[in-house]
Amino acid sequence: MTRSYEKSKQAFQEAVNLMPGGVNSPVRAFKAVDMDPIFMASGKGAIITDIDGNDYIDYVLSWGPLIIGHTHPDVVAAIQKVAETGTSFGASSLVENELAKVVIDRIPSIEMIRMVSSGTEATMSAIRAARGFTGRDKILKFEGSYHGHGDSLLIKAGSGVATLGLPDSPGVPLGIAQNTLTVPYNDLESAKLVFEKFGEEIAAVIVEPVCGNMGVVPPLPGFLEGLRELTTNAGSLLIFDEVMTGFRVGYHSAQGHFGVTPDLTCLGKVIGGGLPVGAFGGKREIMEKIAPAGPIYQAGTLSGNPLAMSAGLATISHLKPETYDYFTKLGDQLEAGFREAAETYNIPHTVNRAGSMIGYFLTNENVINFETAKTSDLQLFAEYYGLMANEGIFLPPSQFEGVFVSTEHTEEHIAKTVQAFQKVFKQLAR
Ligand code: PMP
Repeated sequence: MTRSYEKSKQAFQEAVNLMPGGVNSPVRAFKAVDMDPIFMASGKGAIITDIDGNDYIDYVLSWGPLIIGHTHPDVVAAIQKVAETGTSFGASSLVENELAKVVIDRIPSIEMIRMVSSGTEATMSAIRAARGFTGRDKILKFEGSYHGHGDSLLIKAGSGVATLGLPDSPGVPLGIAQNTLTVPYNDLESAKLVFEKFGEEIAAVIVEPVCGNMGVVPPLPGFLEGLRELTTNAGSLLIFDEVMTGFRVGYHSAQGHFGVTPDLTCLGKVIGGGLPVGAFGGKREIMEKIAPAGPIYQAGTLSGNPLAMSAGLATISHLKPETYDYFTKLGDQLEAGFREAAETYNIPHTVNRAGSMIGYFLTNENVINFETAKTSDLQLFAEYYGLMANEGIFLPPSQFEGVFVSTEHTEEHIAKTVQAFQKVFKQLAR
């Protein structure tokens, strides 16, 4: 039976005249999978329901934040309490200390933290901190990594090794883009060449310790360690963008999982528990240069917002070391089921894993960077996507995003998803 998306279709027709592309963030437009956006009405645990009444097992989880599922009773209770006592003061509140203490305790490289309202703000501010602290202008990022939409970070690689970046988007001044150097992810040799040439001008390397924005691409052994060494030797800072990996890849985040310590860390998603939160933090000597302790300016009307802090605190408090074992178990089950179905029906596939970050690609290539990720069959992905949605499985509508599980996903949910893989791959069999 084919599902009806009639109400979503109508809502989208209205939305396209109200918002650019009908959405408030581009990935929601479902363009890559040739569908109209699905409008959601409600969520409970691992299940979301659209405005046509279709239920789905949700593997998007608001693009990562909902690690304990939708409308978890602890989060709802925390939000309700704050809603009744005051949602914003523009002055300090105790819950800001509480969340800061938990994050600092969980991620040892963070000695001090500053809360902001999105991942984009976190990375923008961390870059400013690195530039202000080192007195240098250039940064190095990796091709295919996404660090939010700040000017300095919206740059992709051109050809060659030490490519001076060109703006990825109209509106990013060339003068800013030229200070962003890019090399392929997992390519330590290219990073070394860039450092040989520009080392003394580089304020920081910013890296996703597990890349989650070209699908899931884990670091090759030695990659993160090599970046640590390069930056230390050149007097540059190492920034881990853990907006996606933070509290997701492990109890102590990706840096704990891989045992590599950055100077600064960017956070977002999970630390807001579904409300708008980001944060950046790290070594005390760097963070004490941030205003008003120091001269590097950074601020926000809603930064440390009590509603958002309390949702984040309720979410993180729920995560225990064994939670990650559970995620790994579900991930194993999902990976095995996906592989088996793809093999049975001869569908090209590769699966990458980092704990509960699961990335599958419709290619037989070993995916280690953006070039190899792009060998995926995007047309096949679009067909697969629509069929999976029809089976009640809500996946990120792009081949270049990972799937997530929450504490509310069960083995039954995964088994149902694996049945859908079987059914859908049978239809797509080659
Ligand atoms: N960094 C990474 C690694 C991300 O995945 C994202 C968002 N997907 C961001 C930064 C930007 O975060 P936000 O969308 O909250 O601005």
